[in-house]
Amino acid sequence: MTEKKKSNNFLSHIIKADLEQNRVKNNTVITRFPPEPNGYLHIGHTKSICLNFGLAEEFGGQCHLRFDDTNPDTEEEEYIKAIQEDVKWLGFDWGKNLFFASDYFEQLYKWALELIEKNLAYVDEQSIEEIRANRGSLKDPGKNSPFRNRSVEENLTLFEKMKSGGFEEGEAVLRAKIDMKSPNMNFRDPILYRVRKSEHPRTGDKWVIYPMYDFAHGQEDAIENVTHSICTLEFEDHRPLYEWFIENLSVPSKPRQYEFARLNLDYTVMSKRKLLELVKENHVDGWDDPRMPTIRGMKRRGYPASAIREFCSRIGVTRKNSIIALSTLESCIRENLDETANRVMAVLDPIKVVITNLNDSEILEGSINPKNPDLGKRKIPFSNTIYIERSDFMETPPPKYHRLSPGGEVRLRYAYVLRCDEVIKDEKGEVIELRCQYFPETKGGKKPSDGRKIKGIVHWVDGKDHIKANVHLYDRLFSVENPLGNKDEDYRNFLNKNSLVTINDGLIEKSFLDMKSESPFQFERLGYFVLDSKTSNDDQFVFNRTITLKDNWAK
Ligand code: ATP
Ligand code: MG
Repeated sequence: MTEKKKSNNFLSHIIKADLEQNRVKNNTVITRFPPEPNGYLHIGHTKSICLNFGLAEEFGGQCHLRFDDTNPDTEEEEYIKAIQEDVKWLGFDWGKNLFFASDYFEQLYKWALELIEKNLAYVDEQSIEEIRANRGSLKDPGKNSPFRNRSVEENLTLFEKMKSGGFEEGEAVLRAKIDMKSPNMNFRDPILYRVRKSEHPRTGDKWVIYPMYDFAHGQEDAIENVTHSICTLEFEDHRPLYEWFIENLSVPSKPRQYEFARLNLDYTVMSKRKLLELVKENHVDGWDDPRMPTIRGMKRRGYPASAIREFCSRIGVTRKNSIIALSTLESCIRENLDETANRVMAVLDPIKVVITNLNDSEILEGSINPKNPDLGKRKIPFSNTIYIERSDFMETPPPKYHRLSPGGEVRLRYAYVLRCDEVIKDEKGEVIELRCQYFPETKGGKKPSDGRKIKGIVHWVDGKDHIKANVHLYDRLFSVENPLGNKDEDYRNFLNKNSLVTINDGLIEKSFLDMKSESPFQFERLGYFVLDSKTSNDDQFVFNRTITLKDNWAK
């Protein structure tokens, strides 16, 4: 990591005080990022990643990557691999601290036995529906299960039966024996273990009982000596239970849980279940579709990892839920690319221009990146046939139009002033060619000899010496701020129908070949574009638009 900024949020204050008052075991701050491998990581996860890895780094500690693989129904090896790649790509390193909840199944099982032996857990054979109904509500207390007062011996026997496959899914669960009348619903005899007979990606069919999140998470933290276990606010009500397990079990350390507000972004959805739906129903081209809010999607879109980290640092960490504007993320991308992207010209909707008073061709020069003059100049071929953008010409322009029109003048970027003398149309009346004159004395930004002012400047690409590329113009995936905000309408109805426009045979300045890289380029006046890592190759270049130069969505 290069940014050595100190964070200034309530969590860093807590950690600082804990260290000062010697409350941290071995003086080593340990945090963790605990993804469930049931999907790819998204921008919401990056907030948690930046926070957990960032705090560990800031206080000289360590951050663990721990897979919370306690649900064999939805978890896959594919996700385990991808999550590691994505965290690395974001710029973080867990070193040798890679862990799996499934590595602790044996220990967690022993702790379940410990609770049973202390008469703090029992096997419940009510159906899932009965358990739910007897849990009560915020207004009504719950009802004790008829199985609640089983003897320790009977519970040990029945839990062993659960473990050895003697119960089918839903026939029995292990529950903590706490308080069915507690005002905190999480204390009403929470389920600790359930039967699941599907294959686990790492432990295969070794286990048929799996621990619930609440029973697993804190104990996993304790095993790893995690000092600050940071999760999102929905888990605030689970904290007393987290502490109850830590107090009642012979765990090796006493981690503490802290909560922060999750990231919500407008114009997108973030739940993995919904993202999976978009993939499965082919609304997008996979988890790495450049419109997806996934780390892979953003990577393929050309978002630099450092810009995403900057976004996470800018939005800060609080305990107040809010919705962040997607434009905040987009400004971070723009600011970053303005500094880092090399420039070329490209014409995506070309109109041919023939320069009638020019015979030779020549090589002009342009800055590779005006923000970084050390990079020097690029070589731009120029000849008597060029292309400009169709939208930079108007046959009957409104007043104060500064681009090209019949009889009008415009400056070609890095080249000369041009005057349009003649408009050629096809039989349908569509403009197919402009005949123009150039003014040799105006090379490289000089004024015409009579000193007249040229207000407009347009980009162009040489007619002979260029490369062709297909270009994906990506835009926001949803056309409304809150796709989930309308209870009566499915969020998929709010997908932005223009979120992808494909252009074939866009023309790109030849110098791109000299500078070719995986980083985004600025196509001057058009936006930032990156080679598509999935489909582009040397026979057919494909570019993804990372972002427009200006915010087209601003109200
Ligand atoms: P989703 O709701 O998208 O399925 P999840 O919370 O179930 O996400 P996990 O794999 O359990 O996904 O998340 C791993 C970690 O990332 C958790 O610690 C969780 O708190 C954090 N996290 C997930 N979504 C967000 C978010 N939107 N903002 C901040 N942190 C998040
Ligand atoms: Mg989760």
